[in-house]
Amino acid sequence: MCQLCGKDIPYLDYHINPSNAPEQVYCPNHMAELILTEKLNIPEGIYQSEISGRTGAVLVQDSQCKYLVTPDEALRLLGHSLRPEEYLKLVNNDSHSQEDFLLHDDFYNYDGTALAPMLDTDDIDRE
Ligand SMILES: [Zn+2]
Repeated sequence: MCQLCGKDIPYLDYHINPSNAPEQVYCPNHMAELILTEKLNIPEGIYQSEISGRTGAVLVQDSQCKYLVTPDEALRLLGHSLRPEEYLKLVNNDSHSQEDFLLHDDFYNYDGTALAPMLDTDDIDRE
């Protein structure tokens, strides 16, 4: 159930679970609003990132998939703004594919270029 609007649509909700801090649950509308207004605050968690290998990752979960990502990576993942190398790292992982909603080809080119990023991607290295 979205903690902002109280709507209960379990198959649409996004869950962010650091394991050492309260879980955050948002509907897609509120998740997008929080990202676009830069108000989504994700604490460091206890896991290891499947993208970078760094510790401090949180578990991000939608109805299909689970991702272990650092707070910064989680923002980019949920904001459809992954860097190409981050995108490719995830889709090449056995537990993910372009069929995953957050990795879908509506959001990324085959080479990992974000097509509809919610976040500023000027810092993306396009070499
Ligand atoms: Zn909501």
